Amino acid sequence: SCTCSRGPTTSQICVRFSCHQIILYKSFTPTPVLIYYAEKLLNNVVVSLAFAYSLLHIQDMLNTIPLPKHNWPILQPGWVWLCGAGPGDAGLLTLHALNALRQADVIVYDALVGPDILEWANSTAELIYAGKRGGKPSAKQRDISLHLVELAKKGKKVLRLKGGDPFVFGRGGEEAQTLVQHQIPIRIIPGISAGIGGLAYAGIPVTHRDVNQSVTFVTGHDQSGESPSSLNWKAISDGSQVLVIYMGIKHISRITSELIKAGRSISEPVAVVTNATTDNQQVLETTLGSIKVDLEKAGMSPPAIICVGKSVLMRQALDWQSMISGNSPRNTDPLNRGRPAEAS
Ligand code: SAH
Repeated sequence: SCTCSRGPTTSQICVRFSCHQIILYKSFTPTPVLIYYAEKLLNNVVVSLAFAYSLLHIQDMLNTIPLPKHNWPILQPGWVWLCGAGPGDAGLLTLHALNALRQADVIVYDALVGPDILEWANSTAELIYAGKRGGKPSAKQRDISLHLVELAKKGKKVLRLKGGDPFVFGRGGEEAQTLVQHQIPIRIIPGISAGIGGLAYAGIPVTHRDVNQSVTFVTGHDQSGESPSSLNWKAISDGSQVLVIYMGIKHISRITSELIKAGRSISEPVAVVTNATTDNQQVLETTLGSIKVDLEKAGMSPPAIICVGKSVLMRQALDWQSMISGNSPRNTDPLNRGRPAEAS
């Protein structure tokens, strides 16, 4: 039986060594057989910690590594912190986000928040899924916002964790506004947005002096889930050399034909990056004219960031993940400058 102060949970085996408590943690339910072997090992006091380490994560020990010295804010009961978790790679989380994860007693998280990020949460925190993917029933935005209000009113320390940046196509503004309207105190923690960080992982700089002086972030869906008919594609196309499209896969035919109608060339370079920054990242380099067919051929599915513009060519030089794997850059001067990059 568990004598740990946290109480037993289905995913923890608590072991008491005289005055020391160690929580061995793994995200599976301990079966009687597993508990039998764990107890046997312990009773014989031949527990090789090295063996235990290799079997199980000692999560709480890792979570006590102090954050670097800084005036870290304290998450108070009754507050909601609205926080970006970045595009996927847990290493792209901010230190403020980590500070929040360690303090929250309820974490309401979205589909695009990676499971390894949640492992950094306080082990007693309640994790509530509020995503809209993965075959699970989607939570309605209104319900999510009001649930946050309710949790805060119960005096919980609430962390609302969203993929990327909470204020970039993430409805963070609406959730924050609901909280303010219900007099719930909030803090906003920005994150790295997929449209910037995700492209960087594909070796595409979202701005480059030889390419663009502006960049436009566009959503491929409007509130009803349709392609955004209210967008002035001509103005968007004329206004920015580089377009970064979120949620664009579903309506890619409509979007590309609008851009071509607005004057963009069918040979314009386009990149599609799915599951950016994660182990499943996939990148397709294509053109406005071929994207639909190439996407189907590649069988790529959301979440995807689509980048339209010459900055996509820079990937030929800057595909750093491929270079880490031992490949040479395909072309170190993809924009044909004819002089070194450092020369103005
Ligand atoms: N707030 C998020 C965007 C949420 S909208 C941010 O700042 O990144 C969800 C859309 O974001 C997805 O449909 C996709 O277009 C994009 N997205 C989020 N994470 C992504 C990832 N890891 N790879 C590719 N696209 C991603």
